[in-house]
Order: sequence, then C-alpha cells, then structure tokens
Amino acid sequence: MFRDRAALAGLAGGSVQAGPLVLACMLPACGPRPEPAADPLLVTYIDSLRAIDDHAHPMLPILEGEAADTDLDALPLDGIPAFPIPWRLTLENPEWGIVARSLYGVSVGDTSEQVLAMARRGAAKTQGVGFAVWALDAIGTDVMLANRIAMGDGLESPRFRWVAFVDPLLFPLDTRAEAERTPDVRALYPKESVLLRRYLKDLGLSGPPSTLAGWVSDVVPATLRRERDLGAVAVKFEAAYLLFGSDAFDGGATRGWAEVAAFSTRSARRALALTLTGMMRDGDISRQRAETVARMVLRENAQHVYGIQSN
Ligand SMILES: [Zn+2]
Repeated sequence: MFRDRAALAGLAGGSVQAGPLVLACMLPACGPRPEPAADPLLVTYIDSLRAIDDHAHPMLPILEGEAADTDLDALPLDGIPAFPIPWRLTLENPEWGIVARSLYGVSVGDTSEQVLAMARRGAAKTQGVGFAVWALDAIGTDVMLANRIAMGDGLESPRFRWVAFVDPLLFPLDTRAEAERTPDVRALYPKESVLLRRYLKDLGLSGPPSTLAGWVSDVVPATLRRERDLGAVAVKFEAAYLLFGSDAFDGGATRGWAEVAAFSTRSARRALALTLTGMMRDGDISRQRAETVARMVLRENAQHVYGIQSN
C-alpha cells in the first residue's frame, strides 16, 4: 500500500518527543514526568509560518477520464517485499481524523476508509486542476518541492518547484548482476535503467557513449542543464533528508499526498514547538531566537539554498 519506505521512516521519526522524560527515581511516589505542553504563543507563531516543504511527492490533479499519473517517482517501492507500517500511519491513529477535518471538513472520529476516500474524491472533483494549490493553502505550505520524474498541469511554479531525479546518472553500466544482490534492488535497478533510457532519449541519444569520459563530458552536464532549463531547483539522489520536508506521498485511496503532507507538516510544527519550548524554558534561547530558528527550519534555510523568493 505504501510505496515509500523512507517516508514511513520519516513519519515514524517525526513523532513528538521533547527529550528523555523518564528519569530514574528512588522514591516510590515518583513516576514519569508528564510531557510538557508547548508554549502557546510559540505554537501560534509556528502555525502562522507558511512552510517551504523541502521534500514531497505531490501527484498531478487527475481529472475524471484522464490517464493515471505515472511520473510521480523514480523508485516506487511497489516491487519490494511488504513491511509493517508504524502505528501512527494506521487509520487507528485519531490524527488522521484531525487532518481530514482540516482538509475536507470530515467530522472528527470518522476515519473509516470509505469516508476518507469519499471526502478526498469530492475535494478533487470540486477543485479540479487547482486541487494541489488548494491543498497547499489548507496545509499552510507556501512552496512544495516536488520529487518527480516530470512536472505537469496543476503543479506549477511558484507554489511547486521541481526536484529532478539524477540517480540514473550514477549507473551508466549494466546493473543486472548488481541488482541480484537483494530483493529491494532487484525491483529498483531496472527502474533506474528505464529512466536512464528516457534521459538519453531526451538528449537525442540512442544509447550511452562508448567511454566513461564521454559519459562524464556529454550525458551528465547535458542532463543537468536540461533539467535546470525545465525549472528544476535541485536534483535528488534517493537519500537526501537535510531540511524540513513532509515526504508527502500517495498512500492509496484513503490517504493521498495532501493528507500525508497535512499530517507530517502538523507533526513537524508540534515537534518544533515542543523542542523550542524546552530550550526557552531551560534558558538556552530567547523567544526571539526560538522564532528565528522556527523560521529557518520551516522556510528560510530552503529559501537560501534554492534561491526561492517568496513572501
Ligand atoms: Zn520521499
């Protein structure tokens, strides 16, 4: 059901922890300390920041009767062995109800698969090609960096910026023997080969050059130039998680990328508020510094790295 193992790890790691709260204690009456509440003013401030989501997999808004979106990911993980998902990602988690209410007005407590799927289909139909931008507004995200093979209608700049996949450039040689090593790469290497053929075709080449020097001098820079000319603000190797990113991905009929983006953005804001509240209470930073750090994490680091001018 879920394609993106990294996304799952990211969400699982995004659970809200304010530090080592359970302290060893010799007194019988002494139990674990309760989790501290985040500073309410800081929570309001962080909620007011329009985030730049550094890592996500938004889908093209597909209208009825149109072909499915197939350019969403270079390495969809459908082919790898099934693995258990963390509890927070199951529909038992009441946070999905909160997310569905904030996006679609679904009543809290009703997170049945049927209700969620219907709510999403309804919003997609009402918003049409504007669904993706509408979802960003509802989530509180200013700009979303889209990790996709290609962009398309409904995912335009300035709200969506392209991050192009460049892993195929690492594999100019035949990878079939290498792919046999593990069940995971057995499914994934062939997908890189397919994408590599597409990149070569985009350059007007029928196959890779006969020498590594030719590869380095011709294929690599020409591919990067082409992606930049088409609007890419960054390139992606499949393991780059340095800035705030929701890793919003399509999780099937009941959880589209918008729900996952809303879920993990909310989670990140809460984690940030708790962490910075703790630092303020410990006297490590002032409120002003806490707000600066929140702005940097949610927006300004990404603005500087990618040169995104945004209000
Ligand atoms: Zn991802």
